[in-house]
Amino acid sequence: MTSQRTRDRLIERLSERGITDNTVLNVIRGTPRHIFLDEALSHRAYEDSSLPIGFQQTLSQPYIVARMTELLLANGPRERVLEVGTGSGYQTAILAQLVGRVFSVERIRPLQEKARQRLRQLGLTNVQLRHADGGMGWKDRGPFDAILSAAAPAEVPQELLAQLAMGGRLVIPIGPQGKQQALYVYDKTEEGIQEQIIEPVLFVPLLAGLLS
Ligand code: SAH
Repeated sequence: MTSQRTRDRLIERLSERGITDNTVLNVIRGTPRHIFLDEALSHRAYEDSSLPIGFQQTLSQPYIVARMTELLLANGPRERVLEVGTGSGYQTAILAQLVGRVFSVERIRPLQEKARQRLRQLGLTNVQLRHADGGMGWKDRGPFDAILSAAAPAEVPQELLAQLAMGGRLVIPIGPQGKQQALYVYDKTEEGIQEQIIEPVLFVPLLAGLLS
């Protein structure tokens, strides 16, 4: 179930769905997704679907991980990247192989601790994790060349836009819980913030407050 053949099929499917960045596809091909799941679900790790990770949260669908990563890297390499919603750590692991440094924030402590172990297991040392409300960004570590949010607020958080470097890009799902969300891209340019709507998506909500 976790064979190279199964993983290759996932990559074929992502290409069919329109992912064209081969660097991103190769990193996904080489990253074991099953270690980010509980053992009972690991046989489904290479399906193109989101899967539960406890605390009513989900490991994002591979297509979405690929799409958001592709969008994040579209305008050239990114050195400092902030991720909001570490979750299982899977998206974090993909980013860590493609950018200089990843700063990732998670509000649920037990998820963060598991993610930390997995990232260590993969030998990814360019990642810093923090237990905090990611809607506020991570001001001490900014400004960021890119920010990726894995949870959906109702409106774009101004604090995240503020922590973008000039030329920086925010990739974020926005919309009410469970319906009518879309993936947005915001670029910070000399002329101001530029917004693009990419496609409809379904994400867990961005929530305030911490869980220990
Ligand atoms: N990329 C992750 C997605 C996890 S789901 C993965 O593939 O595993 C989104 C995550 O965002 C959840 O773990 C949730 O706890 C977290 N989250 C929601 N609101 C948050 C906030 N305000 N600050 C930090 N993390 C938040």
